Amino acid sequence: MAFSITALCSNCWACQPLCPAEAISAAKPHFQIDAQKCTECEGDYADPQCASICPVEGAILDSQGKPLNPPGSLSGLPPHLTMAADNER
Ligand code: SF4
Ligand code: SF4
Repeated sequence: MAFSITALCSNCWACQPLCPAEAISAAKPHFQIDAQKCTECEGDYADPQCASICPVEGAILDSQGKPLNPPGSLSGLPPHLTMAADNER
């Protein structure tokens, strides 16, 4: 049971102080979750605190490797539109 942080992390520090298990640390090239410490917030909070505050879609994955804030979940934009915009860059 552990979440993980991807390369999409913007190193904003928002999640680090909220983790009840002190599992999140600043690292290079992006923040990391210590899998040995992460409890998925069970017993402390109803929702995982890191994913609740993270402003970046796709930056935090659950134990199955699925984004907790998938594309469109924060922006409200349909994922196919943001993917099309990314492809035009
Ligand atoms: S799910 Fe909870 S315990 Fe795990 S890293 Fe996020 S805030 Fe910490
Ligand atoms: S809140 Fe999200 S973007 Fe900010 S440091 Fe944590 S994982 Fe990275």
